[in-house]
Amino acid sequence: MRSNIERVINSNDMGTLGTASTSSRIAIRTEHLSRHYQMGSTLVRAANDVTLSIPAGEFVALLGSSGSGKSTLLNLMAGLDRPSEGAIFAHERNLAEMSSDELAKHRSHTIGIVFQAFNLLPRMTLEENVELPLRLAEVERNERMTRVREAVDRVRLTTRLSHRPSELSGGEQQRAALARALVNRPTILLADEPTGNLDSKTGDEIMELLREINEGLGMTIVMVTHEQPRAERFAHRMIRMADGKVMSDGGQG
Ligand code: ADP
Ligand code: MG
Repeated sequence: MRSNIERVINSNDMGTLGTASTSSRIAIRTEHLSRHYQMGSTLVRAANDVTLSIPAGEFVALLGSSGSGKSTLLNLMAGLDRPSEGAIFAHERNLAEMSSDELAKHRSHTIGIVFQAFNLLPRMTLEENVELPLRLAEVERNERMTRVREAVDRVRLTTRLSHRPSELSGGEQQRAALARALVNRPTILLADEPTGNLDSKTGDEIMELLREINEGLGMTIVMVTHEQPRAERFAHRMIRMADGKVMSDGGQG
């Protein structure tokens, strides 16, 4: 049950992780990181020898055409997937050396994730959806209520607490998913095409929220997109991928 829910919301068990250093200046670092898939006789190099370093507090856009390896890299950063080769560090802790339990704790403590599909549980209200990661972590009730209000307030959905996902607009559903990603107070927010299902105005509202979260909370953000103009408007740095490799890594343009 627990692992099923985790799979749905990609946030989970939140035991405390004493050794995670959130003060480390580098949020994410990869060294010759690869992820290969064997498809019959073909080896797909979904991520191919990626070395990069993302300082804490940065807002990074990961750009590239479909199939270039953006989601693969993001999932490795999240600890949802493991490298075939190379290493990946979050706050200088090597994810490859963690057990599955340690990785799960790492995800729940350090990482918030949002996807193009909002992945809200349809039978639950907005409030219950946002509360879920805290329940799984057995956070005490009063503290849960405080944190849910804080997260829902941040995405400006306080008037929608008792609505179910079907009673929310697309933009509101993505804001709810964002609140759920934030409720554990992660230090790193990973977003995979978070505006992909939204019209441009609603997408911009999500981007403004991401900017506020980055600037106001100092949260590191890595956002996958194939919308270059949006990346230019909001991100500090653009990393371009093609065929699993980093093609360019720099500021805007
Ligand atoms: P993007 O997010 O940039 O569209 P992906 O990271 O999803 O790209 O995929 C990169 C490459 O890896 C693609 O060629 C894709 O077909 C392949 N790939 C991704 N996931 C799997 C998988 N589970 N099994 C086999 N191949 C995969
Ligand atoms: Mg993708």
